[in-house]
Amino acid sequence: EPQVARDDIIKGTDDDAIISKLSAVNLGYLDDPFVKYFVKRPSRRPPLINRGSYLRTRSLDTFTEQFIKNDITPSSITTTTTTTSPTSATTQSASTPSPTTTATAITPAAGIKKQIVSLGCGSDTRYFKFKAKGLSAHKYFEIDFPESTAKKAVVIKKNKAFTDIIGDPDLRLGLGGTELYSKDYCLLSGDLREFTESIVPKLKAQGFDISLPTLFLSECVLIYIQPGDSDAIVNWVGTNMDASLFVVYEQINPTDAFGAMMLRNLKARQIELPGIHAYPSLKSQEERFTSRGWQAAKAVNMNKLHESLSEQELKRISSLEIFDEVEEWQLLADHYCVAWAYQAKPQQPEPRRSQ
Ligand code: SAM
Repeated sequence: EPQVARDDIIKGTDDDAIISKLSAVNLGYLDDPFVKYFVKRPSRRPPLINRGSYLRTRSLDTFTEQFIKNDITPSSITTTTTTTSPTSATTQSASTPSPTTTATAITPAAGIKKQIVSLGCGSDTRYFKFKAKGLSAHKYFEIDFPESTAKKAVVIKKNKAFTDIIGDPDLRLGLGGTELYSKDYCLLSGDLREFTESIVPKLKAQGFDISLPTLFLSECVLIYIQPGDSDAIVNWVGTNMDASLFVVYEQINPTDAFGAMMLRNLKARQIELPGIHAYPSLKSQEERFTSRGWQAAKAVNMNKLHESLSEQELKRISSLEIFDEVEEWQLLADHYCVAWAYQAKPQQPEPRRSQ
């Protein structure tokens, strides 16, 4: 099978993700007025899938929220990544306030500029959802294949709901309509397998700054590319950025019965997950970072994240639709993980005072 055909199939995985997200939005799991613009034919997904989409979005939202709200110094990243669970800060603070959100909301961001880079963004709406709530980074970059970014750019450019949030009269399309540039939001086209040679220069041309604390998000993306290529991204970020937090969400456990079935089902749709064989476990997901010089890494499966939901939130989502498939859920959730890692270069030592 030629690579072009394989790439087309991978681009198509975004349609599935966004339809599932809309299903979760329409049922009340998630609050996101932007998703519907990316779905032509909405369809209701089974409860299992809705819960999965909800938890996936919520856990990455939580990282994003904490990254934006807290100052990212090596010590504060430690706090974020080790003592706080990725679901504990609520992203729907209006309806479900939690002590975590309240505490961080009153902590001033101290004016430290931050960047977010979404690798393989697809139709993700996080930038818009967060900025609508008053949460934004100095720069938010999104990257995907040109065919995918072209579709996204059209939707954004022609809908006031999006351009109002971007709020930049100079918002403009570029590179044959495959890119969008504005003050704080850039949609860039390219192939993540050419990260160092082609993506990094593109980012830098749009004001990406290696000295700023940066959150890298990879939601169901690295798993689709060969480990050598995803390792190159992790390596580059770990070596070149002054301070960064990297968050990965993807499938694990390919070899047990459920995992094998999951792979067979994907294969029937011609979807391959080359990354899952290199990073099949929580431990290997952590090592993908620690073995490349990152200071700390942690990976948890979705059961763990589910357990960390507050009783109130669990009650809220349980009221949305009948959910009988508890055992199936646990099996499924055992096959998805969130891994996060941080790395920060040591600060310049204070000059020694002479006696
Ligand atoms: N991150 C989004 C989300 O969670 O909603 C989209 C996830 S979708 C399953 C995977 C995305 O990764 C697709 O949009 C696909 O085009 C993108 N992708 C995969 N390999 C890529 C590559 N080599 N270069 C750029 N984008 C890639």
